Amino acid sequence: MNVIETRELGKTYGQTRALHDCNLAIPDRHMVALVGPNGAGKTTLLNLTVGLALPTAGEITVLGGRRAGSLAALDGIAFVAQNAPLYRNLSAAELIHETRNLNRRFDERYATRRLDELAIPLKRKAGTLSGGQQAQLALTLALARRPRLLVLDEPMASLDPIARDDFMTTVLRAVVEDGVSVVLSSHVLAELERVADYLVVVSHGGIQVAGEVEELLAAHRTLTGPASGSEQYARGWDVVHATTAGQQAQLLVRTGHPSEPVPPGWNTRAVTLEELTMAYLREPGTAATPSSANRWDEATEVTR
Ligand code: ATP
Repeated sequence: MNVIETRELGKTYGQTRALHDCNLAIPDRHMVALVGPNGAGKTTLLNLTVGLALPTAGEITVLGGRRAGSLAALDGIAFVAQNAPLYRNLSAAELIHETRNLNRRFDERYATRRLDELAIPLKRKAGTLSGGQQAQLALTLALARRPRLLVLDEPMASLDPIARDDFMTTVLRAVVEDGVSVVLSSHVLAELERVADYLVVVSHGGIQVAGEVEELLAAHRTLTGPASGSEQYARGWDVVHATTAGQQAQLLVRTGHPSEPVPPGWNTRAVTLEELTMAYLREPGTAATPSSANRWDEATEVTR
């Protein structure tokens, strides 16, 4: 089952094309990292997923073919928007009470137990809790709805490293113990690299690359060799991004097989997820035009 499936999905606000030609098929039971710079279209994609926005082109379905925003879809999705918005004047206990009244399925015991484990006082007003506690409270309210898909929009932006770690531990427990599928957006890959097993890179409103992390890493290599003559070799490879530093050229390439032979004088090594993400972010459009195998001429960049 795909938790999110899109076909030629697009969203335009007035003159602004926030998202275009978005094709995704994200299988369930994954921790999905949605990564891209500011203004890339992450929030737009998440809002479309949870039905807070309507597409202006194409289609989006969730949880195995349910129309995004339909009652059937909303029943299985919990969403925490940016900055963990909460009613600041309500206590944690009142928020639990209100959320329970608004939701057909709400596990109050889970919510109070989690807050107890986190030492978040039930009587304190949400607005007086620390940023980390507020984020945990918003996450707990979302998880107590027992969703099949949890959508988190930049949930850790204002958290310190310890609060981030605690937050991710709660999310990971939900994935492992309850089989919840999670989509987390961030403009910082490092936040998600350790935990994500599915990556979606978005920039300029387009999907640059998407897939299982293991498969993406296996399908790319970094090649290093002499800058002189490298154009000749680059022609034979599907280059995503190329850089030169002095006499040395470095190419990040898509490869059919990790042990594909390389020319004499060249070295090959596995890519890291950060290298792969950066390569696609630097070359928006490479994924959309796979036939442009040789991008060496226009892609060459001098690093100092
Ligand atoms: P950030 O990391 O800064 O939150 P993002 O990747 O989530 O960015 P979006 O918020 O989806 O990006 O915005 C994508 C583009 O759409 C931006 O150019 C933004 O200005 C525009 N946009 C988003 N929402 C609206 C709106 N309601 N009205 C007009 N333009 C919008």
